[in-house]
Amino acid sequence: MQGNKSEKICQGIAASGGYAIGRVCFVRHEENFYTEPVDRSIDAAEIAGEISNFHAALDAARSEIIALQEELRTKADATDLGIFDAQLLITDDQMLTRGVEDMINNQLKPADYAFFKVVEKFVAAFSVMPDSYIKERTADIRDVAARVLSHLQKRGGNSMHYDDQRIILAHDLTPSDTAALDRRQVLGFAVETGSASSHTAILARSMQLPAVLGIPGDFFEAVQDNDMLILDGYTGKLILNPTRETEAEYRRKHEAALIFFHKLAEENRLSAETRDGFVLQLSGNIEKVEDVDTVHEYGGCGIGLFRSEYMFLNASGVPGEEEQIATYRALLEKMNNECVVVRTLDIGGDKLDQALQRYAEPNPFLGVRGIRFCLQERPDILRTQLRALLRAGKYGNLKVMLPMVTCVEEILEVRSLISELEKELRREKLDFAANMPIGAMVETPAAALLAGPLAKVVDFFSIGTNDLVQYTLAVDRTNEHLNYLYYPTHPAVLTLIANCIAVARRHNLPVSVCGQIAGDPRFTPLLVGLGVNELSMPPNAIGPVRRVVRNLQMADAELAAHQVLECETPQKALNISMKMLWDVAPEIAELTAPEIASKQ
Ligand code: PEP
Ligand code: MG
Repeated sequence: MQGNKSEKICQGIAASGGYAIGRVCFVRHEENFYTEPVDRSIDAAEIAGEISNFHAALDAARSEIIALQEELRTKADATDLGIFDAQLLITDDQMLTRGVEDMINNQLKPADYAFFKVVEKFVAAFSVMPDSYIKERTADIRDVAARVLSHLQKRGGNSMHYDDQRIILAHDLTPSDTAALDRRQVLGFAVETGSASSHTAILARSMQLPAVLGIPGDFFEAVQDNDMLILDGYTGKLILNPTRETEAEYRRKHEAALIFFHKLAEENRLSAETRDGFVLQLSGNIEKVEDVDTVHEYGGCGIGLFRSEYMFLNASGVPGEEEQIATYRALLEKMNNECVVVRTLDIGGDKLDQALQRYAEPNPFLGVRGIRFCLQERPDILRTQLRALLRAGKYGNLKVMLPMVTCVEEILEVRSLISELEKELRREKLDFAANMPIGAMVETPAAALLAGPLAKVVDFFSIGTNDLVQYTLAVDRTNEHLNYLYYPTHPAVLTLIANCIAVARRHNLPVSVCGQIAGDPRFTPLLVGLGVNELSMPPNAIGPVRRVVRNLQMADAELAAHQVLECETPQKALNISMKMLWDVAPEIAELTAPEIASKQ
């Protein structure tokens, strides 16, 4: 017990390994965003960024209002929709925009604070008007302002300004909110929604931030800003107001984990080769060019998945051809001719973007997502992205991968677009990489069952187990209530994975796994035994997976995989893979699957 508060423990879903010990920063609900932001000063070098964040937030708010207006058009009286026209006028108001820019420029204030102050001046002026209609417009101004502020605070991460690093506690963090977190200020985070394979969890792992998701709602009632919290990202446990003994115990565990990983780093230059000489390629899943450094640090060979959508999310507009070329070129040059797999824009599902998507869907995961979005809704974006990829291809070893494929036609359509773009580039006398390898993500049951025909039109497969599990088992990967059914070792899932690998082998195509299980040592014996060529994972997972691979005998792994495919239940299958993990690398099992330790 610290102060007079008693220790409270709660169990959530382990989403990203590591320990965080520190004070809580409670992130508010969206509806409370109309409050005065912290008054602080910025450096002159930050002015341009703040102004661009301000305009991006205005654009995002404008798109939201237009979408709301569209949604209501069918349901409401046309006169009611006038409210939204009035709100749109506010987002377009030149005086307001200039007022905010002046304050950022001349008084060196951050965008959120400047915007709030200027809006308050408007509100004050409107409130004293004799006309009651105008007076009532102040509510609209505040409503729009709350929208803009919510975007600004997400973009700038400006809501957090503490002297020490904090653990974020929130009811929800979308993938874009998570991407906008400032790693220097955040020790880790815990949220009520989401599960281990949601994109919020994936980002946490990439950012090396310990995270726990799916926290019971009543836990929040006990927490206050500044409370002391321990977050155990390995087991999913949260301990609020820990006793001195508990805190000391976790500080010891934290220290021991740091020492273990420091020691493991000595193996970073070793190849991922089984004891009997089979070499696997371990590569990185990344979202940003800067993350290449972590892939190098952990000795990854290549990038198996560059999630290009993060160039679009939180951006102030759709990145143009030249901007994209610069990003891909930087990526390729940093990778020194090692293979880089860029996945084309995979928007939709839980990665939503108000600025790109024109309407809300009732079932986004079964909707216009991934390659469907690009072919169907925004072929202009796909064109620009493919042109940029073709042109950047000459700077290194680039492969392109298509997300959410369900049929052969989607690949053929992209291939025909590529041929057209190649002709266009030739006409324009612009250099490009011919014969760029094109791969399919196998992340829908349709793609896995159709592996034979798909193998004839692609150059490689990459198995996206995060979605493959979700779509095979009809389990929303972000739904914390269904976590108990989200089984990567479900016999139906394993049958699809095994089918895809067998087809790839018959066609001599490389096959990798790039879903989260590729970086989870509990599944390494199984995946190695099933015969994948490559495992692509968050960079900091490479060390533990390499250790497991190096301790395995291929013959034993193959035998285990064979037994796993005979299992009728997910748990039996997982037990076989984990038994092998405990046999060959107990130190890794202890850390990554401690809940199982007692059962062995
Ligand atoms: C997958 O579905 O396994 C995958 C790697 O893609 P994402 O997690 O980005 O949907
Ligand atoms: Mg996917």
